[in-house]
Amino acid sequence: MTRLRTFPGGAHPDECKELAEKRAVKRIPAPETIRVALCQHLGAPSTPVVKKGDKVTRGQEIGSQNGFISLPTHSPVNGTVAGLEEAPLPHRRSGPVVVINTESEEGGPAFEPWPDFESRTRAELIERIKLAGVCGMGGASFPTYVKLSPPPGKKIDTLLLNGAECEPYLTADHRLMIERTEDVASGMRILARALCVDDPAVGIEDNKPDAIEAFGKAGIRVEVLRVKYPQGAEKQLIKAVTGREVPVGGLPLDIGVVVQNVGTAAAVALAVRDGEPSLRRIVTVSGGGVREPGNFDAAVGTPFSALIAEAGGYGDDVARLLSGGPMMGLAQFTDAVPVTKGTSGIVALTSKEARRLTEGPCIKCARCVDACPMKLVPCLIAVNSEHEKWAAADELGALNCMACGTCSFVCPSDRFLVHYIKRAQDMIRASKRSKEA
Ligand code: SF4
Ligand code: SF4
Repeated sequence: MTRLRTFPGGAHPDECKELAEKRAVKRIPAPETIRVALCQHLGAPSTPVVKKGDKVTRGQEIGSQNGFISLPTHSPVNGTVAGLEEAPLPHRRSGPVVVINTESEEGGPAFEPWPDFESRTRAELIERIKLAGVCGMGGASFPTYVKLSPPPGKKIDTLLLNGAECEPYLTADHRLMIERTEDVASGMRILARALCVDDPAVGIEDNKPDAIEAFGKAGIRVEVLRVKYPQGAEKQLIKAVTGREVPVGGLPLDIGVVVQNVGTAAAVALAVRDGEPSLRRIVTVSGGGVREPGNFDAAVGTPFSALIAEAGGYGDDVARLLSGGPMMGLAQFTDAVPVTKGTSGIVALTSKEARRLTEGPCIKCARCVDACPMKLVPCLIAVNSEHEKWAAADELGALNCMACGTCSFVCPSDRFLVHYIKRAQDMIRASKRSKEA
């Protein structure tokens, strides 16, 4: 029997994927009004290039790139700009959005399709991926073209696609992998060409045998991963598949690796092969708080409320609404927030599903230490953060925490460890910035 690949530490939260994993993706039309965020990704928001009253067409640029870590933004629909405003967003408190009244979604490609992408140069492929606004679809939303442009002297020899989808409840990547295997495979070939890498692989947890089989049939190298949280975190995926460790404070490219989510690969295929900017994404809507969980293909800018209505509406008990899964997802105070390119799921938890909201004292059991995949001592960092001892928290490696939530999950006292560690990170970064200034 083949040994399943994995990483040290981690935890086994209830997967809860059965709620949506068998639900085929349903494409839903864009609603009457959409709000397209100009900050879809990590980095600087794009600069609006439309104004109230302008007619826009599907795929038209409505925000221009604003710096290296930035991307253009496109209209997912044909319609009229109703205004530019500041609106609540799922991944940050608020940000600038372009409000568009939808008229239709028809239209051809925005760019020349390149079905012959193998005849295109590396630079042409990377430029197209940038112009199409492709960013990481797995949550972090980093501009994809930047990851394909390593600085001089950094040699990339490994491309890994991330199909682990280890967050409980989320099944969007799983459905994508079995329903659109060819898109993911094409995107993988394009990414491999852009990086000059041979023999790329996709990592998939062994709870998705149909996806493993689909990629195997498509001639793609599959690395089967043990089901464990956070197997889909970049550093843990790299460790499991290659045995290499990203140095503290370093990046995967420091050890010759680039990781891209399977959804990103599909978006790359649309951008290059079909000439389509990044306009839609698959979103899982799940949790005991919605009546009919499922997976939906929605236009960027669609309000969460429209997707929840597609999922049969709220049940009688909704204690918490999350963008993303229960481990790393962000709590939302309104369902008026729009889908962004990084919205992998909307999860409505009942009070039974939501974790306790009160914390107890640390009983020094060290479970958080055993579980931390980054080999940190979460309980100690948290104590130092509580006492505002930022230098001590820094010495304990607080900045290496990736906020995966594993420590909080295993803590028998329900300590708000991630909250304390994130606070320490904010303070340490602010202190370093002011010292540099
Ligand atoms: S300390 Fe950070 S990296 Fe370690 S388990 Fe907790 S959240 Fe994850
Ligand atoms: S798991 Fe919780 S109780 Fe145990 S040492 Fe860590 S913080 Fe303390």
